Amino acid sequence: MTAMTRNDQTSTHVSAIKNTARGRWPEILSALTGLPSELFDGEYHQCPKCKKGLFRLVDAETGACFCTFCFRGGPDNGG
Ligand SMILES: [Zn+2]
Repeated sequence: MTAMTRNDQTSTHVSAIKNTARGRWPEILSALTGLPSELFDGEYHQCPKCKKGLFRLVDAETGACFCTFCFRGGPDNGG
């Protein structure tokens, strides 16, 4: 019962964050990573992680990012 209540609160909380964050990912990701917000403008930039690939914010609604070198296979292939 307690766990279920906590899950409900968590999912409401996440949903509220997603609503708040929608369309504001450039500034949020910039604040979280310490990287310049220009990096998340939807254009291609040198990847800040691998310095080899082209990095881009692919979905400003969800904050999804993509790198042609290190993120191309999905979450399990991120290293
Ligand atoms: Zn990369």
